[in-house]
Amino acid sequence: MTVRPVPGPGTRVSVRPAEWQPSPGIEGQTYHEIVIVSVHESHDPRFAWVYGHGPDCAWRSADCSRPFCFEVLVNVDVLAAAAAGERP
Ligand SMILES: [Zn+2]
Repeated sequence: MTVRPVPGPGTRVSVRPAEWQPSPGIEGQTYHEIVIVSVHESHDPRFAWVYGHGPDCAWRSADCSRPFCFEVLVNVDVLAAAAAGERP
């Protein structure tokens, strides 16, 4: 597998419909902003597992003490663009 650059922890990535999957094979239908915690390879080279938080659950907020509350598959091209600073 080609190693693609991925955004580091704390990077905010916006995903549009069809750029992400809530679970394998299911196309995401909504827009989300995700604050990256970590990125992991998935079974599908086009997508990577992203663990993260929503923009509103600030890192140190008592409201969200979990390590992450998003666990979704995101298109690797989107992640590479975010890592390169090519997406807001
Ligand atoms: Zn959270």
